[in-house]
Amino acid sequence: MAKIVCVLYDDPIDGYPQSYARDGIPEIKAYPDGQTAPSPKAIDFRPGELLGSVSGELGLRQYLESQGHTLVVTADKDGENSRLDRELHDAEIVISQPFWPAYLTAERIARAPKLKLALTAGIGSDHVDLQAAIDRNITVAEITYCNSISVAEHVVMMILGLVRNYIPAYQWVVKGGWNIADCVACSYDLEGMAVGTVAAGRIGLAVLRRLKPFDVNLHYTDRHRLPEAVEKELNLTWHANIESLAEVCDVITLNCPLHPETEHMIDDAMLAKMKRGAYLINTARGKLCDRDAIVRALESGQLAGYAGDVWFPQPAPGDHPWRSMPHHGMTPHISGTSLSAQTRYAAGVREVLECYFEGRPIRNEYLVVDGGKLAGVGAHSYSAGNATAGSEDAARFGKNR
Ligand code: NDP
Repeated sequence: MAKIVCVLYDDPIDGYPQSYARDGIPEIKAYPDGQTAPSPKAIDFRPGELLGSVSGELGLRQYLESQGHTLVVTADKDGENSRLDRELHDAEIVISQPFWPAYLTAERIARAPKLKLALTAGIGSDHVDLQAAIDRNITVAEITYCNSISVAEHVVMMILGLVRNYIPAYQWVVKGGWNIADCVACSYDLEGMAVGTVAAGRIGLAVLRRLKPFDVNLHYTDRHRLPEAVEKELNLTWHANIESLAEVCDVITLNCPLHPETEHMIDDAMLAKMKRGAYLINTARGKLCDRDAIVRALESGQLAGYAGDVWFPQPAPGDHPWRSMPHHGMTPHISGTSLSAQTRYAAGVREVLECYFEGRPIRNEYLVVDGGKLAGVGAHSYSAGNATAGSEDAARFGKNR
């Protein structure tokens, strides 16, 4: 029988919800490219419930315990002697989320001799040292597509929020003001602007499709070019590299995974290539950007705004400069964990576990590492190596708030 360690974010500060704002969520059976939504044999939760926090347990306890397995659920993941560290020695499966990542560094993997499966309840497995997983023949899987549309919606919201100066205007209302000039002195229309995405995968393409009706000029760069028909339909301009896209866009959105090739792709040099007053939206991964270069660009006016919901490390320590830099619209990492998304990633985790325990293959599109090499979505969208360096700083969260 297996021990499963599941690392989830804390419950709401007022306790686990007794009721919800809405009675249900729409049922999504398939994604835009035809991939079917997760299809486990059964689920033990009601769609629309809070599943991603500790008490939600991803709806897994009844299923796992009825099979004789042991489930440990904790939010205690960082620092010396965390519960995660204490449970690793005999864990066969670690389930974690990008929002509250259990950083599976090479050191931690070395302390988990029985570990066979690192499963991401969401998308993005950069919190696992993929090189160490490859070397140890540990399977890494994620729930591809489960929250890609959730994130695309967040990106569109953040683009409009920055360009139209929504957050400062809202704050004037809360402060009792009517300061129209203060609000509009840096408020623009998106119409007619050049908007570009770095990566046109599931999220990037969904962002492009959602922005088309805003009458903007759409640009993208990606390692693989989209089909010609899609380029025509959306009137897309393709760029062979980020530099070329950066030079012409008013708004840039980052939608690629974090891996050694993409780490710090946005640094001082790349920011200097952008138009003065560009807006940058990053809901992909904090480490795609050089943290301090972003602060410098906002302070100098090279960037007119920066928004996103991904940080490094996570949780970000209280003194992380992105909390206090000018012209930002940051949220904690939430775009992919709406109640709607949680239903899909919890069902996807259940599907993967059913496959694992029944000896059936995990869907290829869910695999990142398998059989000692990149596989599935990992072979397409990642590169081998490690992007977890520096994650130990997450332990400072709460110590200097
Ligand atoms: P996909 O795998 O569908 O898309 C990723 C795209 O990135 C692929 O088209 C891939 O290109 C491209 N890419 C990879 N490396 C590069 C590179 N060096 N330069 C340009 N493009 C590159 O994933 P999703 O769109 O679903 O998700 C993308 C990322 O968004 C995730 O990996 C995750 O980090 C983040 N995410 C964030 C969430 C949140 O809650 N904030 C939730 C979900 C995802 P190709 O395959 O053509 O080589």
